[in-house]
Amino acid sequence: MRVDVLTLFPAAFEGGPLDVSIISRAREDGLLDLQVHDIRDHATGRHRSVDDYPFGGGQGMVMRVDVLDRALEHVRDLAEESAHVIYLSPQGEVLNDALVRELATYPRLILVCGRYEGVDQRFVDHCVDREVSIGDYVLTGGELPAMVLIDAVTRHVPGALGDEASPEEESFAGGLLEHPQYTRPAEYRDWPVPEVLLSGHHANIEKWKQQQRLERTKERRPDLLP
Ligand code: SAM
Repeated sequence: MRVDVLTLFPAAFEGGPLDVSIISRAREDGLLDLQVHDIRDHATGRHRSVDDYPFGGGQGMVMRVDVLDRALEHVRDLAEESAHVIYLSPQGEVLNDALVRELATYPRLILVCGRYEGVDQRFVDHCVDREVSIGDYVLTGGELPAMVLIDAVTRHVPGALGDEASPEEESFAGGLLEHPQYTRPAEYRDWPVPEVLLSGHHANIEKWKQQQRLERTKERRPDLLP
């Protein structure tokens, strides 16, 4: 899968969470082709400004439609696959497991990171396929949301988790939270591990895990249950 990111701060994507562990390996293995582009390269004029005061007044600055449109068209033409264009926005549909799975089916995503008070609405109306939020709070910029989206989506690209792991065993797959996990040492302080997990009885272990998934979901996220 190819992901192009448009941002005013390309450095935010260097040496961070997308450069370690599973995502870094997915990039090395060619499963994720991540390209980061500086929106400012498409600014013109003496001041190369990317933002301006909002029409009608109000606080802060708004990212300019002409600069964003030029940047997007330039990036769109860098690859042949058609792209699904996403503007990260607190006003978008909230990212969840179903949306992550859907986004993982696109061969190419273009993610636009806003800053300041956001982007000119004309850019959203005419150039963007979808607005996505990572939650009901406001961040300073779209870079962290873009990284969250890329991490979550890459986990669903076939092969990204390696042969051993599968996203189907994680929380939200099948509509439930995952059961609790334990590892060695089996004995530590007076904090016991549930006995069934040490029993070697696979049917009982599976039954216990399923029961835990249901209980946890009922207790913590009843909204997930039908
Ligand atoms: N004025 C905007 C509003 O009230 O809806 C908020 C702008 S925010 C300070 C700047 C940028 O951060 C946004 O353009 C967006 O790209 C990004 N952003 C902030 N919170 C976000 C969230 N929860 N999900 C996705 N992107 C977010």
